Amino acid sequence: MLGFVKGLGVTLGQLPKKKVTLEYPDVQPEWPDRFRGVHRFIPDLCIVCNQCARICPTDCITLSGSRDENRKMHIETFDINFEICILCDLCVEVCPTDAILMSDTFELAVESRNHLKLDMQWLVESEEEYEEKYPDRAPKLEAVDVAEKGEG
Ligand code: SF4
Ligand code: SF4
Repeated sequence: MLGFVKGLGVTLGQLPKKKVTLEYPDVQPEWPDRFRGVHRFIPDLCIVCNQCARICPTDCITLSGSRDENRKMHIETFDINFEICILCDLCVEVCPTDAILMSDTFELAVESRNHLKLDMQWLVESEEEYEEKYPDRAPKLEAVDVAEKGEG
């Protein structure tokens, strides 16, 4: 009986306190700026240097590109296998043009593991949604002469 009263006391003591839980997913937490969610990818900034794929500890990035008639590199395919990505941020750290960044998107529940192999089209659509949500975080493409950087 004494235990019951003590437990009731603890419960009643919590009632006036501020709630720390949220009604997720209807209410989303405020994620910190440095939250590591799935990647943002901005193809116009990518110079196909392959550094992100080379540094990736789990080999989950595969990409390909080609040169145009002016010898400038253009990305053609960019795939990330989120089944094995550990969201370590190394690819973001190493990217010289900020073509790959981290977002606050993390809801990737799918029915098949194969659906976690996401391609450039998915990443671009995800980036569009991100920029709609955070217009002030859209890349300033005019500030970087990407084509010049890709010249080699
Ligand atoms: S976050 Fe880490 S594991 Fe994921 S793609 Fe980038 S380097 Fe690879
Ligand atoms: S490191 Fe950046 S610029 Fe280089 S291939 Fe990866 S995303 Fe593109």
